[in-house]
Amino acid sequence: MTEHISADVVIVGAGPVGLFAVFELGLLDIRAHVVDILDRPGGQCAELYPEKPIYDIPALPVVTGQQLTDNLMEQIRPFQPTFHFSEMITSLDHLPDGRFRLKTDGGETFETKVVVIAAGGGSFQPKRPPIPGVEAFDGKSVHYAVRKMEAFRAQRVTILGGGDSALDWTINLAQVAARVTLIHRRDAFRAAPASVNKMRALVEADVVDLAIGQVTELIGENGVLEAVKVKRDDGSTHEIATDALLPFFGLTMKLGPIADWGLALHENLVPVDTEKFETTTPGIFAIGDINTYPGKLKLILSGFHEAALMAQAAARRIDPERRVVFQYTTSSTSLQKKLGVA
Ligand code: FAD
Repeated sequence: MTEHISADVVIVGAGPVGLFAVFELGLLDIRAHVVDILDRPGGQCAELYPEKPIYDIPALPVVTGQQLTDNLMEQIRPFQPTFHFSEMITSLDHLPDGRFRLKTDGGETFETKVVVIAAGGGSFQPKRPPIPGVEAFDGKSVHYAVRKMEAFRAQRVTILGGGDSALDWTINLAQVAARVTLIHRRDAFRAAPASVNKMRALVEADVVDLAIGQVTELIGENGVLEAVKVKRDDGSTHEIATDALLPFFGLTMKLGPIADWGLALHENLVPVDTEKFETTTPGIFAIGDINTYPGKLKLILSGFHEAALMAQAAARRIDPERRVVFQYTTSSTSLQKKLGVA
């Protein structure tokens, strides 16, 4: 379904920097829409190192990637951002009235006065399995995410991988699919032990099939899959009848559609000034890992600083008549009211 949303600010990316931008904009009474291709907030912190400790966030001697994300979510709660997860911003166009139109791959359209690109290293994209000719089945029989479980009702689903996503979807899709087969190259899994136990119980109960080996061939025509050929460790092969193949081989980061938005780029990064962190296009800002300027350090704390200065400039762009007054959260009753603490 296509949705048209009118906004003051759309933030592209819900990594730590995009999340903190919600806070800085919120202090200036600007509510943000935040879009991320992932199904949850945190960007690299949540996706790449949720349990690793970070030691250089000011005043937090040690915090894991997930804890930092959870803390940021709590900090921005008073500003009620609208999140649009599992959506990639695919296009950015200029409107005659100076605003921007952003479209997502999920059919949403935003018309916004300000765009804040907080896209980090770019969009996380699924890794394709090394099966010859797999591209021909992409989108029809091969899917890298589950948007709606119903789409797999009564289908013979084959899932590849040994991590959390592969195990979670094996367990969940077993409820709707005609049959689920999990294929992994070895009989050991990286997923949470509770999920592994659950999967093994379903195999024991003959609800799910487990095959150890590697898919070497997809059998089918015109993008419609009929079966996958699996090679076991001893070199023997067998076929598994399959309507839908779901490979979960992890994610890589690619700049993605941002490259086509007409922005000046320098080595896949977006150059900005260091006063407002605005790109060469007025009204489009870039903060966090995605931007570049002399002396840039790709650190979370740099992105937080950039978010604060961006917000001041964005406020003036949204309402040119507005006088932005500098205030401390410790002493300003007006800021404390916005934060819900006064
Ligand atoms: P990201 O965290 O990359 O988030 C960007 C988000 O934008 C992603 O979720 C992505 O899906 C989304 N996105 C991109 N394009 C689109 C699009 N077109 N549509 C919708 N969404 C989109 N930094 C430190 O300061 N200290 C450390 O100790 C530290 N340790 C690290 C350890 C590791 C292993 C790694 C990988 C990084 C580490 N970093 C550390 C770097 C830190 O994680 C990054 O600086 C930080 O995540 C940048 O935040 P960000 O919000 O700019 O981008």
